[in-house]
Amino acid sequence: MLSEILRNYRTWCLYCDRFLDAALRDHPEHINYKAGCSSCCELDSVNYLEAFAISTVLHISNGSQETNRSGCVFLTDNKCRIYSSRPIICRTHGLLLKSNDQTNSAAVNCMHNYKQPLKISSRFILDTDSVTLNLIRFNMAFCMLLGDPEAGSKRIYLKDVSLGILPGEIAGIITEYHAGM
Ligand code: SF4
Repeated sequence: MLSEILRNYRTWCLYCDRFLDAALRDHPEHINYKAGCSSCCELDSVNYLEAFAISTVLHISNGSQETNRSGCVFLTDNKCRIYSSRPIICRTHGLLLKSNDQTNSAAVNCMHNYKQPLKISSRFILDTDSVTLNLIRFNMAFCMLLGDPEAGSKRIYLKDVSLGILPGEIAGIITEYHAGM
């Protein structure tokens, strides 16, 4: 069950990553985002599933490094220390995004990319509603696995994740996860 939740979650992480890959491949002239860009790195909390996913990596590489004074705690020298395991919202940074909540039908973009008006295929525009809905579903499945469905609406500060300060049920499942590797 845990492996299935993680597989689904990681599939959606890759799904988001492919939008950036496609943009870099097909119209790189509109992508000014590059390593060292940290304009969007102000995330301060994640849900239980993402706290778990990040913590499994920190367990291996030791997350107790010096952290940034402002912005996200995982940002060091303008680089993400958990880039390969960064939360889903971080994977949408810099992309053309679309949501049903928007009052107009145009896709929104970050301040660095897509500065020039262009006609662009919808395959480059990420539907954030689908991403959010699936993340909520996977997180709820994870919280039910923990025996704590009410945790589905809770957030954990990234600072606490970086220090290994986690709710007991997540700490327990991390131990199980590494024992089964
Ligand atoms: S987790 Fe990484 S990509 Fe996301 S806000 Fe923090 S430093 Fe930036």
